[in-house]
Amino acid sequence: MTTKILVTKSSMPPYEEYIEAIKPLWDTHWLTNMGIYHKQLEGELRDFLNVKELSLMVNGHMALEMAIQMMGFPSGAEVITTPFTFISTTHAIVRNNLKPVFCDVKDADGTIDETKIEDLVTENTVAIVPVHVYGNVCNVEEIQRIADKYNLKVIYDAAHAFGVNYKGLGIGSYGDASVFSFHATKVFNTIEGGAVAFKEHLYYEKLYNLKNFGIRGEELVTSVGANAKMNEFCAVMGLCNIRHLKETFQSREERYSFYKKELSGIRGIRLFEEKEAVTKNYAYFPVCITEEYGRTRDEVYDMLAEQDIHARKYFYPLTADQACFRNKYRDMNLSVARTLASQILVLPFWADMEFDKLQYIVDLLGKFGGAI
Ligand SMILES: *Cc1c(COP(=O)(O)O)cnc(C)c1O
Repeated sequence: MTTKILVTKSSMPPYEEYIEAIKPLWDTHWLTNMGIYHKQLEGELRDFLNVKELSLMVNGHMALEMAIQMMGFPSGAEVITTPFTFISTTHAIVRNNLKPVFCDVKDADGTIDETKIEDLVTENTVAIVPVHVYGNVCNVEEIQRIADKYNLKVIYDAAHAFGVNYKGLGIGSYGDASVFSFHATKVFNTIEGGAVAFKEHLYYEKLYNLKNFGIRGEELVTSVGANAKMNEFCAVMGLCNIRHLKETFQSREERYSFYKKELSGIRGIRLFEEKEAVTKNYAYFPVCITEEYGRTRDEVYDMLAEQDIHARKYFYPLTADQACFRNKYRDMNLSVARTLASQILVLPFWADMEFDKLQYIVDLLGKFGGAI
């Protein structure tokens, strides 16, 4: 195989469909500032994600920063979070002048280890920021129990969990707020984009002010805000992509099942456990290259790269071990997270990925293992 294979390929609607859909913008010249497509997408996403309220944002990171900011935590307070995530999660906490406190994760699915959270709670703790990593659902019940006990807010980074439902509710219904990313590489994209989902209507106002300079009237600014609005071209991209989601999820599921079936026969390649009562979104295909495989994760990564197949070490290193955060914050023994980070490999996977490519990767992995 000679073509380069990246870890994912952005979903795009047919060219004509998008071109047709953006035509009206040449009549109205209304390109941003909560235009009609912004409003329409906000409504359609609220329905699709099965959540009560939703605020559309320029990207997932700003959505996360603002979801934390709207809670009004005192500067320097502590937030318990996971280090096994994209750097954005930790940045969003630190950029709000809060201190991340890193909790270990579970080997079974990579989400925060809820049994270790309580040990980290102090009188300075104000919130928990867990991540539904790869769309794996955190133990939302236990996390809520702890939050209620200590009066903490829960803000989920649900960037990977678009379209996931748990026990009949949209994943964004859990906690005080949940943040989605619509970045080009995610299951659903608006080129760049994001949203915050929540139940309290008050948050809608707060986020509106934060994302639009606090402007409430032509001559009235009531609070300090920034600019994190989604523009109309991105909103239209979302409106087009949303129409194809059903097929997208279906083709992802077919490819996911293929990988799962084929890889389960290879010794030492471990897949994450699947939780009950979850409607999955098949966003990623992460595997753990365990000792039993006989080759290290890095050897597998290099072997694939030599074939121009670019898997990714998501998430290695842990955010807690990155140059900007190392040794700066309180943490606990992160041994499970560190082992996971050393074994994790996200394989190439996207909605219409050709089956011969999937087969080719499976074959390479089958042959490479040094069976012990
Ligand atoms: C993608 C992602 C983000 C940030 O979203 P952007 O839309 O890229 O700003 C935050 N957290 C996680 C876990 C992500 O994967």
